[in-house]
Amino acid sequence: MKKVLGVDIGGTKIRMGVVNEAGEVLADITVPTELPLYPYLEEQVLKVKAEFPDITGVGIGTRGIVDADTGTVTFEKELPGWEGTPAKPLLEAATGLRVELNNDANCAALAEARIGAGQGFSRVVCITVGTGLGGGFVFDGQVMNGANGGSGEIGHLILYPNGLVCGCGRPGCSEQYVSGTALKRLIKEEDVVDPTTGELAKPHTLFKLASQNIESAKLARDRFLADFAIIISTLQAVLDMDCIVIGGGVSESADEWWDLLLEKVKPLLIKPVEIKRAAFGNEAGMLGAAMLVV
Ligand SMILES: [Zn+2]
Repeated sequence: MKKVLGVDIGGTKIRMGVVNEAGEVLADITVPTELPLYPYLEEQVLKVKAEFPDITGVGIGTRGIVDADTGTVTFEKELPGWEGTPAKPLLEAATGLRVELNNDANCAALAEARIGAGQGFSRVVCITVGTGLGGGFVFDGQVMNGANGGSGEIGHLILYPNGLVCGCGRPGCSEQYVSGTALKRLIKEEDVVDPTTGELAKPHTLFKLASQNIESAKLARDRFLADFAIIISTLQAVLDMDCIVIGGGVSESADEWWDLLLEKVKPLLIKPVEIKRAAFGNEAGMLGAAMLVV
């Protein structure tokens, strides 16, 4: 069975997996992110290739905006020097293998669409609710990259005109209302106190407190879910996808809010769509990077 290398480049670590066509991980290696990223990345990839000489391709998922055609990161400020590096041609020359580069959220979506919760569906949107709000669109098994490599920026759909100013500089972006960061704000605004600590609740405990019928927690939760439902409805109206996959850190508490979200989404849908929980956690980026070259 064909084997490839999937590489997920994060701000602090790089995770590399030797993955077969079926998505099985044969080796899982994590190294710290070192700057400058190139040629460090090349050295790490060559090390894995020496150990697994039968890999047939290298897929890379990275932070930032990526031009997938040229295999270059076009916008990334957290990893100095990485922006503008033509990683695809450099790595192809160094390894003699096919190399593909894409954004990490797109890779996570590809993993879910090909071998995860979206398997068997043809139009899959993956929504990642972590610290921020991200996403990726995979149609007929292919990542939708967009003209500038910027597709899938669900977090910057404007939800409230003249609303809270986003990190992107514009007011009212969805990320300000549906994300781990937004939960922190909602907890403050609704003054959700965790009775076991006597302090403001943490985002991961908010939903449990709401399930325990604590009024302030319910208010915060319901504001969050109402906004989340609007985002899902908007995406579905425009894209008519057949599956929405929800993942990311906030989705770890989904047992506490999943049914309520579906209840809020239902009256807002124009066409039917399956809404499913992500199959993968942190490994999604690495698996999806591998799927770029399977
Ligand atoms: Zn924004």
